[in-house]
Amino acid sequence: MIRLKISEETEKFRQEFQSWLKDHRPPEIDSDCSLETFEKAGRQWQRELASGRWVAVHWPEEYGGRSLSLVEEAIVQEELVRVNSPQLLGLFGLTMVGPVLIEHGTAEQKKKYLPSILNADEIWCQGFSEPGAGSDLAAIKTRARVEKDGFYITGQKVWTSFAHIADWCFLLVRTSDHEKKHKGLTYLLVDMHQDGITTRPLKQITGDQEFNEVFFDNAFAPAENVVGEVGEGWKIAISTLMYERVVLTFARQLQSEVALSQLLERTAGDTDSAQQLMLSGEVAKACAVRALAYKHLLDYAAGKKPGPEGSLDKLFWTESFQSISRLAMEFDGFDVLEGADSASAGSDVQRYLYSRGRTIAAGTSEIQKNIIAERLLGMPRLKYSE
Ligand SMILES: Cc1cc2nc3c(=O)[nH]c(=O)nc-3n(C[C@H](O)[C@H](O)[C@H](O)COP(=O)(O)OP(=O)(O)OC[C@H]3O[C@@H](n4cnc5c(N)ncnc54)[C@H](O)[C@@H]3O)c2cc1C
Repeated sequence: MIRLKISEETEKFRQEFQSWLKDHRPPEIDSDCSLETFEKAGRQWQRELASGRWVAVHWPEEYGGRSLSLVEEAIVQEELVRVNSPQLLGLFGLTMVGPVLIEHGTAEQKKKYLPSILNADEIWCQGFSEPGAGSDLAAIKTRARVEKDGFYITGQKVWTSFAHIADWCFLLVRTSDHEKKHKGLTYLLVDMHQDGITTRPLKQITGDQEFNEVFFDNAFAPAENVVGEVGEGWKIAISTLMYERVVLTFARQLQSEVALSQLLERTAGDTDSAQQLMLSGEVAKACAVRALAYKHLLDYAAGKKPGPEGSLDKLFWTESFQSISRLAMEFDGFDVLEGADSASAGSDVQRYLYSRGRTIAAGTSEIQKNIIAERLLGMPRLKYSE
């Protein structure tokens, strides 16, 4: 794995974490284990990491982090991958709603929610997409009626990862009609354990059931659970997506490095020149993806706020992950795909199937390209029908 080495200090930080990891081993979770086992092991592992103060090290110290930069956060992610740690159960809290609350939340919200995000006492899910609103997120129709005591929510979300185990949801709802559809949206923190919320798991191409449909039938969120202002939810939603494309993307892009290392190991000394050419192409791309991700991390460490450049990281790692996974299947032969799902078919098939969704989740490749064209390259904005 290409490793980030910035200074003696960051290297010392890495060594400290490596030595902690020698005494604290991550759980070995089978891909076909029950949801209960997955959840229990995931909570315990995150708690253990939190007790050593190894989660969200880039959060300010007053909220349970170490006030370090995203470079140290990236080092933690790299070392977790090195020891085969499963993805942290509370990743959406740690990488999305946590940073958003630190930036936009009230003092009470920070006090109430941040500690239990760190130690996985409470798991969060992201309630943005709807059957008619994915790429065009501002088209959401889930409504909240605003009353004196709070918000009464009715509508449907879809593709909500981890909703079936989540305690809380950061939810984008429409609170008023406006001629501009991104106006009149509000960002709410919603308790998932209440009457009026029904969660139905959806089976994925991998055979897993990571995401869900979520139905709201007059579900309630008290007035103090708004983040930002009523009607100003679009701003907070965009801020969430920026964080998603930085921290979460970095954590996830390490998956493609693992896939590539394993493929190189497995095929070493057993490839013809055409295959060697394809493999070296993937290595070159992986180095470029990594260099770009590091460049952005260093910019953030120097004080820059996450912006549209996160779309470059998101686009390139997901496309590279797909092509590495596809190449592995070319070596194996695609006939192993027949009738396969993740539980039965082994890691190459699982990874190949799983990689398909990565260019869709957190904004499709086409949407990332639009953002790059319009917001980074300054090309003319496409006019969509409102
Ligand atoms: C594994 C996975 C996990 C997910 N988890 C969550 C979650 O936890 N919470 C959540 O809220 N959502 C989640 N999503 C949903 C995800 O954000 C949406 O699927 C995504 O934004 C795309 O929206 P859509 O599915 O409605 O597709 P659509 O927006 O209908 O897009 C269909 C196709 O049209 C293309 N397209 C659309 N508009 C344009 C345009 N303007 N220019 C060019 N091409 C365009 C798209 O690129 C795509 O190819 C998840 C999705 C996946 C796959």
